[in-house]
Amino acid sequence: MERTYVMIKPDGVARGLMGEIISRIEKKGLKIAAMKLAVMEESKAKEHYAEHAARPFFPGLVSFITSAPSLSLVVEGRDSIKIMRAINGATKPAEAAPGTIRGDFAMDTGRNIVHASDSLEAAEREIKIHFGNDKILEYKRSEDAYL
Ligand code: ADP
Ligand code: MG
Repeated sequence: MERTYVMIKPDGVARGLMGEIISRIEKKGLKIAAMKLAVMEESKAKEHYAEHAARPFFPGLVSFITSAPSLSLVVEGRDSIKIMRAINGATKPAEAAPGTIRGDFAMDTGRNIVHASDSLEAAEREIKIHFGNDKILEYKRSEDAYL
């Protein structure tokens, strides 16, 4: 079953949007297979965003991501990677369609509330960074036949 890594960033947690976002993920029919609320270690944030290390926004991004609690999730389901990117919406809130999380709740690229892996390789890499050897749960949901 395809898994992806999703993060509700510190702005999403601080704004009280965890429930709203989890609700959208669950109602779509995706399964939450692991979840962790924590302040991300700087080393993990740097590794997570390594592809952007040379970009001017990188230091600010790392300091923001590690500034307060964020919620890490492993989300599972057929095409979960593509579906989560669609649920989140475009990176820039001005380009994010209404009905997406960023389209509905964000105004600023640096405060765009959510993250989701953009490929199978990224998902595997990011789940390893944030969940390491933690248990990824297996349980039944009533829609499992369609997952
Ligand atoms: P996505 O999160 O949609 O995969 P990117 O991988 O391009 O987007 O960028 C990672 C994150 O870095 C973005 O979600 C955003 O928070 C931040 N970011 C990207 N571009 C900028 C920018 N020009 N200014 C500030 N922050 C940015
Ligand atoms: Mg990205």
